[in-house]
Amino acid sequence: MKLHRYRGQRVVTRPPIPDDGAVLRIPGVEVDAAELNLYSEVNPLRFAIPPLRPPQALLYPLAHRAVELLPELTPTIPPMVFMELFQERYDRYMTARHPRTITDGARLKEEIQRYAASLGFISGVTLLDRRFVSLGYDSAFPYDTVLVLGMEMRKEFLLEAPDFRLRRYPDYDIYRKAGWRVHRVANFIRRKGVSCSARVPFDGAMQYTVHAILAGLGELGAFGGVITPQYGPRQRWCCIALDAELPLDSPVDLGVAAFCDECLLCVDRCPAGAIPRERVWWRGVYKRKVNDVRCFRFFSRLKGCAVCINSCPLHRFGFDEVMDHYARTGEVMGREEILAEKLTLSRRNECKNTSDHFFHTGRETAP
Ligand code: SF4
Ligand code: SF4
Repeated sequence: MKLHRYRGQRVVTRPPIPDDGAVLRIPGVEVDAAELNLYSEVNPLRFAIPPLRPPQALLYPLAHRAVELLPELTPTIPPMVFMELFQERYDRYMTARHPRTITDGARLKEEIQRYAASLGFISGVTLLDRRFVSLGYDSAFPYDTVLVLGMEMRKEFLLEAPDFRLRRYPDYDIYRKAGWRVHRVANFIRRKGVSCSARVPFDGAMQYTVHAILAGLGELGAFGGVITPQYGPRQRWCCIALDAELPLDSPVDLGVAAFCDECLLCVDRCPAGAIPRERVWWRGVYKRKVNDVRCFRFFSRLKGCAVCINSCPLHRFGFDEVMDHYARTGEVMGREEILAEKLTLSRRNECKNTSDHFFHTGRETAP
């Protein structure tokens, strides 16, 4: 078995698959542990979903004018470079200078979460489930305790989706902002004498969605992302694996699964028909499997899409308001109005040099 090292410590790149008892416990989601384990073994997750792997990934920058795209994407690169090239050495440097002062895990967790909240993060702690770590990236997570951090995307930008009038693209700035701030949280942890390894949001090394749910931060929404009580579907995730035993958070049942079954606005409004109405078994999990190829084609043709997030009433009106209204009336707040809205797919927002040869956007039968 291939081994990597992080600070002199041997890290198994593909650890043994957990036994049948290691069932994923997510409220409202059925899991077949044996099938999940089998897929993790014979067909482990890859760093990027198929449409984002080279050479297809090149279509995205090629389809857009560099002069527009570069200012959006360039600021997201430095936190990634620090993560990949410098953080391991910096971790060694910092923890050598800062002896561990707090031995009580609960107190350490409280201080870390308070600092993370001061930077705008919601956070929770869980154990790493290596079935959801991409092949070859286990060494990016040298410790099993994971602090999952979520940051809100700008509501005013997403309310414009898919015709972004306030700017040309959706909120790419979140990757820069959360990217640098997750390093600040990691450095705070190192100053407490605890070694850690941070991952920025623009990253495919692990599945953030499942870990955010396991850390009790939210529930799985029909559109495939996490719904949180703070921001609904409107956040980006990053994480820190740290060398400390902290009290773990547990998944929470917020009633989202039942609400999504009633709502399905993201399904009805997705212009690419990428979100299926019915759940299917996919890699041992019974869920609405988003067709990422269809989504990416559409996403690439326009300068972003995010109609699924914009259509979600939990994003528009707030989690508590919508869920209270649903509990009182059994109705989805604003459903008819949102459904009746016309999608603004203007030529202005369309990429100049794409062709239907690359990006067929016609609505097809859902899988
Ligand atoms: S981003 Fe757009 S195309 Fe992709 S799933 Fe959401 S609504 Fe559909
Ligand atoms: S739009 Fe409706 S179905 Fe889709 S994630 Fe939001 S609440 Fe769930």
